Amino acid sequence: MITNLPNNQEFENLAKNCLVQAFDLVFQTDKVIFDIGEKSLKEDVWKYSQGKLNTAVVLIHQAIESFMKASVCLTSPLLLLEGRRKDWPVLPDQEDKDFNEFYTTPAEALLRTYAATVKSPLSPEIVAHIEAMRTLRNQIVHGISRTELNPKKLIDSILDTFLFFLGKDEWWQALLDEFVNHPFGNHEAYPFGIELARFAERLDYVEAVIGKAKFAKQFTQNTRARRYICPFCKTLWLHEVDDNYPYRWALLDNSKTDEPVVHCVNCRIESPVTRESCYYTNCKGSVRFYGPSTDEIFCLTCGEQQYSGTQAEDEAAEKKEAEQLRKRLLGLP
Ligand SMILES: [Zn+2]
Ligand SMILES: [Zn+2]
Repeated sequence: MITNLPNNQEFENLAKNCLVQAFDLVFQTDKVIFDIGEKSLKEDVWKYSQGKLNTAVVLIHQAIESFMKASVCLTSPLLLLEGRRKDWPVLPDQEDKDFNEFYTTPAEALLRTYAATVKSPLSPEIVAHIEAMRTLRNQIVHGISRTELNPKKLIDSILDTFLFFLGKDEWWQALLDEFVNHPFGNHEAYPFGIELARFAERLDYVEAVIGKAKFAKQFTQNTRARRYICPFCKTLWLHEVDDNYPYRWALLDNSKTDEPVVHCVNCRIESPVTRESCYYTNCKGSVRFYGPSTDEIFCLTCGEQQYSGTQAEDEAAEKKEAEQLRKRLLGLP
């Protein structure tokens, strides 16, 4: 028997994990200088960080191979084995051998096995992507790579890999899963709520690096529509940091006109909202969130706490009160 045969899910999880690690490497390297925004400093830091960026390429390549293996496993993991079948210990009385002790298919043969087992023919784009990453990875691992890498190129590759092999929404779901399932998340010393709300900085960062159009292709929701503050993320921020939650990743679901809701791209939580103009007349916002306490009632456009009625109504009520007080003081009816 050949024991410990791998399965589709194991390879898929490995692939996602490699891509999340590759993304983290790029994001952590680039984030600080991205916030500072100086072009010459950025280029210096990227040059200095080529080793890290090269590691990201190795991880992306490993992810691509794992996705192909995951797909081949749906037919049979035995197709991943190289060597003579004569050596397979599958007849009676032969000693078991672990799958990991066999030679497995090298990269070029893996592409062909993958292409032969997928349901629909591979597009030229995906083949070009797989081959480009394989060539780049070989330069890095077997020689001295002269290819200058930058974060945009790598983020493009990471997102393309998710899109080609898994489809829309999968990149963000993989990042979020890795974050939410981290054992540290349950520890009382870890500010889970703040970090979940702050997780959206990755969305801001990636959209700025790769551009709005390419970014939008990653999601089923239209990220180019008007965006609002997510009530869930903002409330987490409000209780732990301050009233100025800086990210806007909630999208209004226009299909529900009687019970409007917003869906947050960051936390993926749906929140009920009301269509009501902002209290502040200089804000054109028309979506409010009504939380359980007064500081949790706010406009999803400017983020400001809302009061009952409109500003004009409140001003009129104040004026009336002042007039009554004046009359009382003067002894007038
Ligand atoms: Zn949210
Ligand atoms: Zn407002």
